[in-house]
Amino acid sequence: MTSSDDSSKTKTSDKKSDNSLAKRFIGLEKSIWIEFGALAIAHKAINVGQGFIDYAPPPYFIDLYKETLDDPNILLHQYTRGFGHRRLVDAISNVYSPYFNRKIDPLNEILVTDGAYPSIFNCIHGFMNPGDEAILIEPFYDCYEPMVRSAGGIPRCITLKQKPESTKADISSSSDWTLDKNELESMFNSRTRLIIVNTPNNPTGKVFTREELEHIANLCQKHDVICISDEVYEWIVYDKNKKHIRMATLPNMWERTLTIGSAGKTFSATGLKLGWTIGSQHLMHPCQVVHQNCVYTCPTISQEVIARCFEYELKRLNSPECYFNSISTEFLEKRDKLVQALKECGMKPVVPDGGYFIIADYSQFAGDKFQSDADDMKDFKFVRYLIKEKQLATIPVTGFYTADHRHLAENYIRFCFAKKDETLDKAIEILRKLKTN
Ligand code: PMP
Ligand code: GLN
Repeated sequence: MTSSDDSSKTKTSDKKSDNSLAKRFIGLEKSIWIEFGALAIAHKAINVGQGFIDYAPPPYFIDLYKETLDDPNILLHQYTRGFGHRRLVDAISNVYSPYFNRKIDPLNEILVTDGAYPSIFNCIHGFMNPGDEAILIEPFYDCYEPMVRSAGGIPRCITLKQKPESTKADISSSSDWTLDKNELESMFNSRTRLIIVNTPNNPTGKVFTREELEHIANLCQKHDVICISDEVYEWIVYDKNKKHIRMATLPNMWERTLTIGSAGKTFSATGLKLGWTIGSQHLMHPCQVVHQNCVYTCPTISQEVIARCFEYELKRLNSPECYFNSISTEFLEKRDKLVQALKECGMKPVVPDGGYFIIADYSQFAGDKFQSDADDMKDFKFVRYLIKEKQLATIPVTGFYTADHRHLAENYIRFCFAKKDETLDKAIEILRKLKTN
C-alpha cells in the first residue's frame, strides 16, 4: 500500500467521523419535552406539565385492544396499507364525514401517520420550498417552528394579544387572547405558502371563533395559501356556546385545508402515537410522498385497535355516553379545581375554553426570585426550580414562542389537568406549601 493510498483512506474516515448535525437542523436542538420530560422523571416529580392522562383510557379501549390481540387473523402482525390500514381509514371516513358535511374518500382523502407530529411534518415538508413563508400564531405548539425551519421555510409569527383588562384580573379567559385582524392581513404576501391554526389551542386553551376562522379563511383564499388546521383537541370544548369549528367546513376551505387529528388525544391514550390528516386528494398527494419516503406504513395492530374504537363510538355518536361527548365533562371538574387552587395560591390562571391545559401568570406567586437573562428565560428557571426543589413538573410557556416574542410570556407556566384527582391534589398541596413558606 502506498503512502498516498493511506492518506486517502485517512481522509475518507475523517469525513465519516464528522458526526456534526446536518445544517438544516442546526439551531433546532432544544426541545421542552426532552428537557422537562427527563427532568420530571429524574426528580420523581408530580407531573402536571406534559399533556398525557395518568389514568386509564375508556374501558372499551383496553377490551378492544385485547380482542384485537386475540384475533386469529395473523396478518394483523404484518405490514398493512401504506397510507392507512383499510379498516381504520374506513372508520375515520365514517366518523368524520358527517362533521365535514361531505363523504370523505377513505382511500384518497385520509393519510394515517404515527401521530399528529408526523402528520404536521408531512404537510409542512410536502408543501414548503426553501424561502417559502409559513404564518404561525403564537403561542403555538412548539414543533411547528422547527418543522418549518428544517424544510427551509421562514416562520412569520403573529402573537395572540391578551386584552389589557384581563391581564390584571385574578382569573381571565382564553377567549381574551385575540388576533389583530389587520396585523394578520399584513403577514400575508406572495411568498406565504401556509398558515397553521390550532384550535382548541395548546397552550392557551383558546377555541377560535367562527368569525376569527372566517377571517383567516378569507385571507387564505385571497392569497392562495394552504391552512394546516391542528384539531387534536377537537372533542375537548367546555362551553357549549363555544363549539369547535372545523376550518375545512368553512366555505371554499375544503380545497385548501389539511386537518390534523390524533388518536392519542381522541382516546386518551397518547402512547398509541397514531394520527391522521384529512384533506382533498390534490392536497394529500404531497403529504403521501413525504410519508412513503419516511415512515411508509404505521403499526397494523394499533391501527386495527383504533378502527375498532371508532366503530364502537360510531354506533353512539349522538348519545351523551359517546366518549367524544363525555370527555369534556370528565375534564371540566378537573379544570375548575385547578383554576380555583391556582387562584388561591396567588397565580392568575387563564381559564381554557378547550383542551386540557391552563396557563397561569406566576409572577406574584414567585416574586423577584427568577429573572430572564441572556441565557435563559425566567419561566424556564422557575420550572426547573419547581421540578428539582419541589418535585412538581409544569411547562414554561416561552417554549411556545419564537425567540423574538418570548419575553411576552415569561410570566406564564402551563399546567395539564388531564390527571387523576390524586395527582392534582398532590400538585396543589405542593403549591400551597410553597406559597406559605
Ligand atoms: N398538536 C398539538 C396541538 C398537540 O398538543 C400535540 C401533542 N399531543 C400534537 C400535535 C402531537 O400529537 P401526537 O401525540 O398525536 O403526535
Ligand atoms: N402535546 C403534549 C403537550 O403539549 C405532549 C407533548 C410531548 O410530549 N411532545 O404536553
